[in-house]
Amino acid sequence: MIDLHTHTNISDGTDTPAQLINKALASGIEVLALTDHDSIAGWGEAAQHLRPGLDLALGAEISCQTEDGISVHMLGLLFDSEHLELQEVLAQTRENRHGRMGKIIARMNEAGIDISMEEVLFQLSEGATLGRPHLADAMVAKGLAKSRDEIFEKWLHNNSPYYVAHYSPTPERAIKLIKAAGGVAVIAHPMASLRGRTVSVESFTSYVEAGLDGIEVFHRDHSADQKILLTQIVKDLGILRTGSSDYHGNGKLNELGENTTEPDQWEALESKASARRVVKKA
Ligand code: AMP
Ligand code: ZN
Ligand code: FE
Ligand code: FE
Repeated sequence: MIDLHTHTNISDGTDTPAQLINKALASGIEVLALTDHDSIAGWGEAAQHLRPGLDLALGAEISCQTEDGISVHMLGLLFDSEHLELQEVLAQTRENRHGRMGKIIARMNEAGIDISMEEVLFQLSEGATLGRPHLADAMVAKGLAKSRDEIFEKWLHNNSPYYVAHYSPTPERAIKLIKAAGGVAVIAHPMASLRGRTVSVESFTSYVEAGLDGIEVFHRDHSADQKILLTQIVKDLGILRTGSSDYHGNGKLNELGENTTEPDQWEALESKASARRVVKKA
């Protein structure tokens, strides 16, 4: 099984990178991509805990925003971690997420919801990418709801009055940076409309011109019809299709390997990367 999109506590997942590797092995995964939000800080620990039978594709899920304010997530895999400009964009995004969290908290406080930055940061592993899920965890800890999902539904969704965006590159810029760093770019869950507005089908053309290699077709937030439509789109555009769990540990219901990538698609994708191959433990 090939699962190309997972998170750890380096962003808003709940497993450490070592735990993720162990669970992937136990789940029968053969190729796993580590794709924390806007960070590669988990790469070292994950590679260190690798065992024979599992290949590790190192990557990140880059938060992007279109010029008209639509949130897009871009998976970058197998890119060179020393590419300065790409790392600078990730660092800028991570930093900006703190100021943005302050604004979200201020809006909530104004509305009478009692939550503080200290409580949110208490939910964050050291050096991890801060996100709304950590705020949700802090609110769950206060007894305001039972789960992240419930908090997102009530207060933290993209159309909520408390929503504030953070600095993000455009999808085209992120794709170009991933490609310049020798990696491959796959747009994550492009039709997951539960999360807010999604990009038009026409915009995929512009992404392919920027170098997009594939589309994440098989994802739990896509309907059966959307999977059919996206399969036709990847055919028409001459790019690849992937499937993945978007595993977040206990942070979401998503189970490792619940959606997977076909071996021929992965082989073609990996062959497009020029900076690095998967990490293997002999
Ligand atoms: P942020 O990056 O801070 O804008 O937060 C977005 C993250 O929140 C995404 O990576 C999702 O994994 C997570 N998220 C979005 N909706 C939900 C939800 N309903 N329940 C739990 N997590 C969610
Ligand atoms: Zn996440
Ligand atoms: Fe995502
Ligand atoms: Fe994700």
